[in-house]
Amino acid sequence: MEEFNDIRRAVKALCANFPGEYWRALDAERAYPTAFIAALTRAGFLAALIPEEYGGSGLPLAAACVILEEIQAQGCNSAACHAQMYTMGTILLHGSAEQKARFLPLLACGALRLQAFGVTEPSSGTDTTAIQTFARRIGDDYIINGQKVFTSRAEHSDLMLLLARTTPREQVDHKREGLSVFLINIREAVGYGLSLRPIRTMMNHSTCEVFIDNLHVPAMNLIGEADKGFRYILDSMNAERILIASECVGDARWFIHKAADYARERVVFGRSIGCNQGIQFPIARIYAAAEAAALMVQKAAAMFDAHQPCGAEANMAKLLAAEASWQAADMCMQTYGGYGFTEQFDVERKFRETRLYQVAPVSTNMILAYLAKHVLHLPQSY
Ligand SMILES: Cc1cc2nc3c(=O)[nH]c(=O)nc-3n(C[C@H](O)[C@H](O)[C@H](O)COP(=O)(O)OP(=O)(O)OC[C@H]3O[C@@H](n4cnc5c(N)ncnc54)[C@H](O)[C@@H]3O)c2cc1C
Repeated sequence: MEEFNDIRRAVKALCANFPGEYWRALDAERAYPTAFIAALTRAGFLAALIPEEYGGSGLPLAAACVILEEIQAQGCNSAACHAQMYTMGTILLHGSAEQKARFLPLLACGALRLQAFGVTEPSSGTDTTAIQTFARRIGDDYIINGQKVFTSRAEHSDLMLLLARTTPREQVDHKREGLSVFLINIREAVGYGLSLRPIRTMMNHSTCEVFIDNLHVPAMNLIGEADKGFRYILDSMNAERILIASECVGDARWFIHKAADYARERVVFGRSIGCNQGIQFPIARIYAAAEAAALMVQKAAAMFDAHQPCGAEANMAKLLAAEASWQAADMCMQTYGGYGFTEQFDVERKFRETRLYQVAPVSTNMILAYLAKHVLHLPQSY
């Protein structure tokens, strides 16, 4: 994506102010990268996808991909902010004119943050249409009850997109109907029906359990039409997959460069370990895999930006890039030997961070199931 080289250079320059020491200190404390996010916001990168009329840059998804990829390639972590890029699509595509005018300028200037996306629940897991959280319309409000799990960044976000059932599953023709999307003002809701409980995970990810007990949400915060929410969420999933795939490409490139540099410098048996084919071939193999994945990401982003159906490409991009980043992580760890396990080189931190993308936001199995059914016309396996 050479056309966005100026953006890439600017992101790289910004990331230089946030070296490994910064991320290691946060990781030890499981603390949020507030200064990094503030710098990204000031530079306008988190408003990349917001149209210019609302104060954003109005850039295509391909540009957002470059931003997230470069953050990862510089050893930083965009997991603290990437949701704003893909949740935005739901408001842009399905929000009312009033909702866009109310929220987008504030999101563009950084006065508000939309970083939380509450879909997953403890009892439903991957089977999203089985969620139990229910929103009942009473007058001008919806009263919401339920529970979410792994709602990332909720403590550090002002707004959350929340998926809830508005018609019971047994009363709809298809299980995908009867779900609705709400924009929740977290700051106003905490203590008044919403509570958050952090979950400590193997990497620094600021994820939460969310408990919802008679939360009153104004009906004006419903996005689009009631009962049509699953379609809205699906619309933003292609963007999410392509953006996360870009992050994985960035991670893979970071691991590959880190491993190649170390292999050239580390001398054992009187020569650099990189002289050994057993060290250099895995690096070369993963380099090829990462570059192939990057091409699929570019293809998917170009199709998305051209408003073409891109479900297969978005899923393949996510699959290939997440596999490349995880293989690169394992290869880098092996290349570093014992030192890969120490914190000072950041390999173990990035290894833990990139592992997530085999599971979230969509697991590898679900992508394979999608390709089997929708592209290869095999029977649905679940
Ligand atoms: C750090 C972190 C951050 C997250 N952030 C968010 C967030 O911000 N918002 C949000 O809504 N969710 C978030 N998630 C949730 C994430 O999307 C889910 O964990 C993921 O979708 C899988 O759901 P589950 O964990 O319940 O696994 P389960 O659904 O219990 O599945 C367990 C395993 O079984 C496999 N499996 C299940 N069914 C099938 C099948 N039919 N065929 C083959 N394999 C199958 C799955 O692929 C998975 O590997 C996050 C998760 C983590 C760990």
